[in-house]
Amino acid sequence: MSHFDLRDGVLHCEDVPLPAIAAAVGTPVFVYSTMAMRTQAQALRTALAGLDDPLIAYAVKANPNIAVLRTLAREGLGADVVSAGEYDRARAAGIAPDRIVFSGVGKTADEMRRALAGGLAQFNLESFAEAEMLSEVALAMGCTAPVAFRVNPDVDAGSHAKISTGAAHNKFGIPIGDTLAACAALRDLPGLELRGVAMHIGSQLTSLAPLEAAIAKLDALIAALRSQGHAIRTADVGGGLGIRYDPALPPPPSPADYGAMVTRLTRGRDVRLIVEPGRLIVGNAGVLLTEVIRIKPGPRCPFVVVDAAMNDLMRPALYDAWHPIGAVAPDGTEMTADIVGPVCESGDVFAEARRIDRVGAGDLMVIGTAGAYAATMAGTYNSRALTPEVLVDGGAWAIVRPRRTSDAFLADERVPPWLAGDREPDRPT
Ligand SMILES: *Cc1c(COP(=O)(O)O)cnc(C)c1O
Repeated sequence: MSHFDLRDGVLHCEDVPLPAIAAAVGTPVFVYSTMAMRTQAQALRTALAGLDDPLIAYAVKANPNIAVLRTLAREGLGADVVSAGEYDRARAAGIAPDRIVFSGVGKTADEMRRALAGGLAQFNLESFAEAEMLSEVALAMGCTAPVAFRVNPDVDAGSHAKISTGAAHNKFGIPIGDTLAACAALRDLPGLELRGVAMHIGSQLTSLAPLEAAIAKLDALIAALRSQGHAIRTADVGGGLGIRYDPALPPPPSPADYGAMVTRLTRGRDVRLIVEPGRLIVGNAGVLLTEVIRIKPGPRCPFVVVDAAMNDLMRPALYDAWHPIGAVAPDGTEMTADIVGPVCESGDVFAEARRIDRVGAGDLMVIGTAGAYAATMAGTYNSRALTPEVLVDGGAWAIVRPRRTSDAFLADERVPPWLAGDREPDRPT
């Protein structure tokens, strides 16, 4: 169920009318529904209830806002982090160290030290060289690092090339065929304790088949590792389950379908299952609320120029992603338009020749399914402000990241000594 609904002709997030947020905070602004996140977290928990103490490690990169993390921590979720910054956020949100998994292909020694000092469930190592570095770090700190190898199962995730990670040519994980040798060699590295195996084959998966194939490979690998005397206790199958962006397309598998598949393949294996969902939890919990600046005539249809742009939501420019777009107060009529932002790039287009609610200058619109990989990727290109984020819970709402204006960024910048003292050309002395 959506938590963004029309009430008396006006789009609400839960019980809050979106025009009220726009009036108070300005546009563009990201708006998140607490209930939508909770519903997804609970659906996944229920779907995995047949397993013994599974760890749902939310992929922080999907939406790292501290208020989002706290909401999910209250639902019992842990965290999958890929940097020291994300590790710190997870801890600041109150997520217990033993519910944090550290992933990522380029962990530095500093990041390893930080996580070891604070504690974590496991590092998912992506190469043997990384294991060697972690061994040195752990040894110097006099502690033991819990580790899993992230394997590359060499399956085609069937998703967009830029968000597929489990094929042999992708940079992620160690080739599954090399894992036995790598784990054997790990025995010679002091300061490491092998706990499990991990994988993550890609994002926005719309079929369970590639996941199922990869989990079967992981299962066979666990059996082989055990036969060589390794005590494998965790099986991390990653994240990646897709969500619905375009209501005209068939919906991706539900959390229930996903949970049933994962449960069938991992129950009775005497491992603790770890899953790392990101998009699934937050994707449909957010919208980007924007105002129409003006309508500009175009060769085939008008351009609707909105005050949000590719710097706020990169997914269309980066992945050709499709996002639903509508008016906040639709009048029941429609138009065909290109919806574009003000940034000076031809790629700053949210939709082309799209049938949308009729809008005019000054009207509010929403770009939907903007809870994941949206605000977290936002930047300030074209010296635009960093777009704020608002969290709604029932009838309450709060700014959870304020707008940072271009003035604030300008104040952060420094003129080096050799450029100081220049006079403005139009202010000669
Ligand atoms: C990005 C990522 C995830 C989350 O992917 P989603 O598609 O958002 O579920 C999980 N694990 C790792 C290692 C990732 O890099």
